[in-house]
Amino acid sequence: MREILIRCTGALPSVLLGHLWVLLTLCCGLSYRPSWRRFVASATWRPWVEARWRSARGNPYATTIGHGTIYPERPSDTQIEHEEFHLLQYEDLCFAGVFVGGIAALFDGPVGLGVWLSSGAPWLLPSFLTSTIRYKTRRNTFEAASYRLAVFEIAAYSATKKHIDGRSWLRVFRESYA
Ligand SMILES: [Zn+2]
Repeated sequence: MREILIRCTGALPSVLLGHLWVLLTLCCGLSYRPSWRRFVASATWRPWVEARWRSARGNPYATTIGHGTIYPERPSDTQIEHEEFHLLQYEDLCFAGVFVGGIAALFDGPVGLGVWLSSGAPWLLPSFLTSTIRYKTRRNTFEAASYRLAVFEIAAYSATKKHIDGRSWLRVFRESYA
C-alpha cells in the first residue's frame, strides 16, 4: 500500500518513464509478454535481443529504466531483486525531485515541473560519468568502469548479495528492521 502511494505521488515521473520505456521496446519488437504489477511495467527481451544484450561474462541483462523492467527469459531471483532495488533508488530520486522542483517552481512553475519530471533514472546518469572518470583505464572496459563500478550499481549488487543464510542482505535488513 505504501509502495503504491509512493508510486502514485512523488515517483510518478518514474512510473511514466518506465511505462514509456516498456511500450517503446514492445512497439519496436525488442520485447514481448508485457505485464503490469503495482504500477511497474515489465516485459521479456525477445530471444534475438537476449542473445546480444549480455555482459562480458555472457549473462543476459535485465534493464530497468524508471518503473519499467525488461527481463531475460529466465531471470534469477537475485536479478529480479536487483532490478526492484533500482526502483527504490529511482523513487528516492523522484522525491528529491519534488523538493528541488518545488523550490524551482517558486521562481518559475514550468521549470519546476520540468525538474520534477526529469527526476528518477535520468538523475543517475551523472553517476555513470563520475564512475567513468574515476575508473576508466586501458585495462578497465566501459562496462566495468562506467556501469559495474557506478555507486548505485554497487549498492544494488551489495544489497542483493546473498547473506550466509541464503537471504539477500536487503531481505536480512528488511526482516530485521522494517
Ligand atoms: Zn543494476
